Amino acid sequence: MTTEPRFIVLVGPPGSGKGTQAARLREILHLPHVASGDLFRENLKNQTPLGLQAKAYMERGDLVPDDVTIAMVMERLRRPDCANGAILDGFPRTIAQAEALDEALAARGQRIAVVPYIAVPDEVLVERIGGRRLCRVCGRAYHIRFNPPRQPGICDVDGGELYQRDDDRPETVRQRLKVYWEQTSPLIDYYRRRGVLVEINGDQPIEAVTEELRAAITA
Ligand code: ADP
Ligand code: ADP
Repeated sequence: MTTEPRFIVLVGPPGSGKGTQAARLREILHLPHVASGDLFRENLKNQTPLGLQAKAYMERGDLVPDDVTIAMVMERLRRPDCANGAILDGFPRTIAQAEALDEALAARGQRIAVVPYIAVPDEVLVERIGGRRLCRVCGRAYHIRFNPPRQPGICDVDGGELYQRDDDRPETVRQRLKVYWEQTSPLIDYYRRRGVLVEINGDQPIEAVTEELRAAITA
């Protein structure tokens, strides 16, 4: 294992498998998993001022404003467990967020090591998001067909109840995919120009995607 800081940014549309893969990579790489969507959902659950600010945007499938999002993620990255790197999932999602991240890391004498772009066709995404279920306790993602729990409706790890996210319903999913193509996909070129982008085929079984990611990250 290298001791050099490793900041890995997973880019990909909603449903591409970022959360699923980040949870697996975290075990392999021993790095914390920083997921902006999870941080927002935590805040919503605890009814914090930040959660209340984010709620309406999330319900519509729109992005939460950059200033709020950047402040939340930067606070997370300043904690000691992120001193030697992190797996970022769902952040950045705009060019302004990417620039803020670059600046914050540069101020620490660090930089992004690699940006895997998990590519998955839109029709597959709609099917994945429609069947996604999350554990109320640990947030782990299952799929009713592609990655089912051992017992329907119950998390394998902690027995928590599985639920469907409100924004995983079809009307909101269409909006989220539109937002992704308009506001987030420009990051692909942004990182390609910086020489850190690696394209990963996300349209294969979960284990095969992890293998491709592992090879790209440790190359
Ligand atoms: P998915 O895993 O399906 O891509 P997330 O859990 O990452 O979805 O995000 C859920 C919602 O949280 C987004 O639709 C958006 O409203 C908000 N959100 C998460 N990350 C960001 C971000 N980096 N910038 C702005 N909004 C975000
Ligand atoms: P993201 O974080 O990018 O929004 P998730 O990791 O939550 O995506 O995955 C979306 C849904 O698709 C979940 O229900 C998950 O179990 C399922 N899934 C993830 N990766 C795969 C895969 N390679 N093949 C089939 N289903 C997958």
